[in-house]
Amino acid sequence: MNTKTFLTIAFALTVSVATAQKEEAKMVPAMTEIWDPEVPVVTPGETPMNAPSDAIILMGEGTDLGYEWTNAKGENPGWKWENGVATVVKGAGVIKTKRQFEDFQLHVEWRSPEEVVGESQGRGNSGIFLQELYELQVLDNFNNRTYRNGQAGSLYKQTAPLVNVCTGPGKWQTYDIIYTAPRFNEDGTYFTKPRVTVLQNGVLVQNNTELRGPTQYIGIPEYTIVKHGPGALILQDHSNPVSYRNIWIREL
Ligand code: MG
Repeated sequence: MNTKTFLTIAFALTVSVATAQKEEAKMVPAMTEIWDPEVPVVTPGETPMNAPSDAIILMGEGTDLGYEWTNAKGENPGWKWENGVATVVKGAGVIKTKRQFEDFQLHVEWRSPEEVVGESQGRGNSGIFLQELYELQVLDNFNNRTYRNGQAGSLYKQTAPLVNVCTGPGKWQTYDIIYTAPRFNEDGTYFTKPRVTVLQNGVLVQNNTELRGPTQYIGIPEYTIVKHGPGALILQDHSNPVSYRNIWIREL
């Protein structure tokens, strides 16, 4: 660069900085205020456990389990249903929402059996499958060790929870889940992977964690990626009488 070119560029830069400063000097607060569209108004529940006004109640007192849930074959669910509490009946199989979801905020309350039976993966095992494919583990890990990426709060066989915040058997626990569905490339691979944030009993256990692929009991998740659309929520029957109640969802 010769001296003349250098001086020309330097002059141009000085002028543009001076112009920008002048522009900024002319700004008033209202110029950066955005008023429309107005933010939707939502009435919160009585406590953060209770559904806000824009939530869909998937499981609650005064409803029937069959309103929102079926078994895997689309028939009436075979789980025990009493006062808004659904309990796994061994061998009845999973229960599944009739609705399908993409991005959501989900509140779930679950309880492992009061009577402690079994150990490791055999104690109070169930699970919540997001979009039918990605399992957030439900397990009684109060004084019960198992593999870290298979315990309660884990994205099963993928990511361990940040902490073990399980309360004892027979106690109700909460999951508050924020899920962002994957987006796909034409060839069926992820454009963006699914992401999950989970608070268990109000404590962060998954922080915007990326899923590697659909949950696999045996094998590598990345090998099984299949392009998919919206999906149901599935609650697992892992032969243990785990209970669920007060499930609500907000579509995002
Ligand atoms: Mg499970």
